[in-house]
Amino acid sequence: MQEILEAIQTGASGDDIANLTLPESTRAAHVLRSEAGMWEGVDSWDKDPRQSLHVGELPLPELAPDEAVVAVMASSINFNTVWTSIFEPLPTFGFLDRLGKESVWGARHAQDFHIVGSDASGVVVRVGSAVRNWKPGDRVTVHCNYVDDQDPSAHNDSMLAANQRIWGFETNYGGLADLSIVKANQLMPKPAHLSWEESAVNALCASTSYRMLVGDHAGRMKQGDNVFIWGATGGIGAYATQLVINGGGTPIGVVSSESRVKLLNAMGCDAVIDRRAEGYQFWSDEHTQDESEWRRLGKKVRSLVGEDPDIVFEHPGRSTMGASVFITKRGGKIVTCAATSGYMLEYDNRHLWMKLKSIISSHFANYQEAWEMNRLIDKGAIQPVMSEVYALDQVGDAALKVHHNEGEGKIGVLCLAPEAGQGITDAAKREAIGEDRITLYQRHARGEL
Ligand code: NAP
Repeated sequence: MQEILEAIQTGASGDDIANLTLPESTRAAHVLRSEAGMWEGVDSWDKDPRQSLHVGELPLPELAPDEAVVAVMASSINFNTVWTSIFEPLPTFGFLDRLGKESVWGARHAQDFHIVGSDASGVVVRVGSAVRNWKPGDRVTVHCNYVDDQDPSAHNDSMLAANQRIWGFETNYGGLADLSIVKANQLMPKPAHLSWEESAVNALCASTSYRMLVGDHAGRMKQGDNVFIWGATGGIGAYATQLVINGGGTPIGVVSSESRVKLLNAMGCDAVIDRRAEGYQFWSDEHTQDESEWRRLGKKVRSLVGEDPDIVFEHPGRSTMGASVFITKRGGKIVTCAATSGYMLEYDNRHLWMKLKSIISSHFANYQEAWEMNRLIDKGAIQPVMSEVYALDQVGDAALKVHHNEGEGKIGVLCLAPEAGQGITDAAKREAIGEDRITLYQRHARGEL
């Protein structure tokens, strides 16, 4: 691996990189099938990813014709790695086994280890025989939409493909490793003005928010829309907030601390709700919701922006869905991509049908949406929201931080990159976009705001 790293750092040619010998194994963060039952009866909160996420050497499979091997300089923690590491709602080995039964190439994924991670930036070091648009030496970011595009169900919107999967969650050989295997269709050009880790944190969360709010399939936000955003400084929320401002809308950002309020204000979001300070109790007990609390939230929104939200950006799930449906404007949309606090949801259907509201589901992003989002980041219109960086060996600590809602935005992970700050090849563009804007979340984490 040292030879590969040196070649990347000294700017070796694509041909030289193509001629390097690839190791047969890689250092990688993974969970083990033998440990999937380790926490029976333990409360979710107490399941500690530091115990289940291991970092060690694992064998790499043969490369399929439509795939590439990427030398991963940096990756990031996504909530799906938290789900994998706590084996909830199900151990991910079931996904790998199903993929294993689909084809000869799919069988490579059904292992007793699962290499996790659904983001990466790095350098292509090998391509399969059918790859045309990418070559060794290309600097890339990787999105996580893993689709067999020979299936006709993938032809219109690849997120509707019958065999659509999330790389590094529903497939093996994910991005939290020194070498990763991806389909060539997952590759996108790395923004030259960002470091490896700043480039690595965006694709999963930003593209998810793009589809939820901007793409043709979900919220289809218009200029002037009021968009209510739960977790507005979290992984997906921090990109949602930026997309709303960039698209001429008004974000109403919800967070749970004074420090996050400050961060939202620094992003240009003026309508902010501190849900902890307000003390909302949407559930009066495990089975009963309190409509007066929904009403109190609705009034708060009107006091801030004078209107009800056109779109509610929903992902906490059980704890908030009743309130989300209630506060949405007549004819408005609740766009949901997750249910962190519980997936059996309850809302009062009268508030939905009588006011002609719609609940729209959304999941990651199709190829085009992921590419458009990468373009916005490359143009400097949307900034990475990386607050901190961990080494791959500390991946368990980083996942615990996300699990316990202790970090802001995204946490980057250095894989082959020996230190943070490397990989910027267009310093002039960085300067034009503005160091302060690019590093806002890092500065906030250092207490500099
Ligand atoms: P994150 O970085 O942890 O941010 C989530 C934010 O939501 C938190 O910062 C928190 O903000 C807020 N929150 C958490 N629990 C809440 C509750 N009970 N009530 C109100 N607000 C709550 O996570 P993320 O990366 O944004 O992901 C959020 C969810 O989306 C996860 O379940 C993840 O798996 C899912 N997801 C789905 C997709 C997809 O393609 N379907 C893609 C990405 C993520 P405050 O405490 O500051 O309010």
